[in-house]
Amino acid sequence: MRLVVLGGGESGVGTAILGKEKGCDVFVSDFGKIKESYKEVLIKNGIDWEDEKHTESLILNADVVMKSPGIPEKAPIVKKLVEKGIPVISEIEFAAPFTKAITIGITGSNGKTTTTILTYHLLQSAGLNVGLAGNIGKSFAEQVAEDKYDSYVLELSSFQLDGIINYKPHIAIITNISPDHLDRYDYKYENYIDSKFRITMNQTEEDYLIYDADDEAISEWLQKNKTRAKLIPFSLTKTFEEGAFIKNNTMEAIINQEEFKMETESIALEGKHNLKNAMAATSVAKLMQIRKATIRESLSNFQGVEHRLEKVLKIQNVQYINDSKATNVNATFFALDSMNTPTVWIVGGVDKGNDYNELMALVREKVKAIICLGVDNKKIIDAFGNVVDMMIEVQSMREAVIMAQRLTEKGDTVLLSPACASFDLFENYEDRGRQFKDAVHNL
Ligand code: ADP
Repeated sequence: MRLVVLGGGESGVGTAILGKEKGCDVFVSDFGKIKESYKEVLIKNGIDWEDEKHTESLILNADVVMKSPGIPEKAPIVKKLVEKGIPVISEIEFAAPFTKAITIGITGSNGKTTTTILTYHLLQSAGLNVGLAGNIGKSFAEQVAEDKYDSYVLELSSFQLDGIINYKPHIAIITNISPDHLDRYDYKYENYIDSKFRITMNQTEEDYLIYDADDEAISEWLQKNKTRAKLIPFSLTKTFEEGAFIKNNTMEAIINQEEFKMETESIALEGKHNLKNAMAATSVAKLMQIRKATIRESLSNFQGVEHRLEKVLKIQNVQYINDSKATNVNATFFALDSMNTPTVWIVGGVDKGNDYNELMALVREKVKAIICLGVDNKKIIDAFGNVVDMMIEVQSMREAVIMAQRLTEKGDTVLLSPACASFDLFENYEDRGRQFKDAVHNL
């Protein structure tokens, strides 16, 4: 079988290794440059490759093509493959049949990484032989080739899900849905929602779908469409006979007639959104029959993931928080929502079509000053100019942090939660978060 892999990054190279091990005739083609470190791996494994071009005669003869998630369906080479009727699939679809391990698949617009790592932490603390993959760390395909684990927790983007045909997770989570990446979905929100729900399309009665029952887009889809999976809802406001919810400041999860309870105060992650993530992860842990004491301990010691509402330092009783990963309005909504003190808010970057109205009430209530950190800040100034007393534009993270310090008093918080992508002034959100932390440490 000829396997052509489009894209020579983490998922591409992993797929190539797995394909080679399983006896496929493998060829990797990348229209950009393949990183040296990946080239070395390909050469070491005797896998043919090319970069900075797509040679059609070597690609259009494929039996199956694995397309890396970064390559859009609109790319000419992909269109040609589809026209010829050659299956174009994602890494998860290719790799899953080669492992007996069960998978827990986690998707959603926000909270994927946090929920994935928290779930992994819960299962690993319980002593399960579990792997972590998807959009995180080492590729799923390469780990399948090594065949080390009995189960995997997978972070699945909608791009990964677009390329599945038969794949099903035993347990699926949809953390929430809000508009994002619409440029890849013909600017139609419905298409993006449908893409997220592909996670459940092959599930059967033995499988589970854990979802946010407070989420409008999710509830609407579930009213109009069917899934065979057993539904496990979670909510901040409703209660269920089976599912997870909050009652009297206690998180409760009732799964298979068994109840787990834990005071929300003892959960290390802060913010309402993180209670949701904790409910989702706890539901998985209960389904996997993890002991209550282990769940309790893991939830009370999990400190969160870098760049997600990460507490950096307290200086002169002002708390600095790095939420650089908040690249859309919904993520920033929950960041502002979890602020308990007057806040100086650093916001801005590349706007992906934001509607700032959703933040208006929170900004009015909590934000004392706004620092705009972007090349073009017009939308933010128009939205909040009349809402806060102070608004400043800066062009570097150092300036932003120095200005923020000047505007604070004892007891305040400085929050970097940009609601925007970072590419105008930074390499990526990690670079933005690191520059923030460096600037805070240098105050
Ligand atoms: P993803 O992997 O889906 O991008 P992350 O866990 O990296 O999600 O979090 C991205 C941003 O969204 C961070 O700013 C984080 O604080 C915020 N966030 C995390 N969980 C949720 C949630 N359940 N709902 C809304 N925002 C969230």
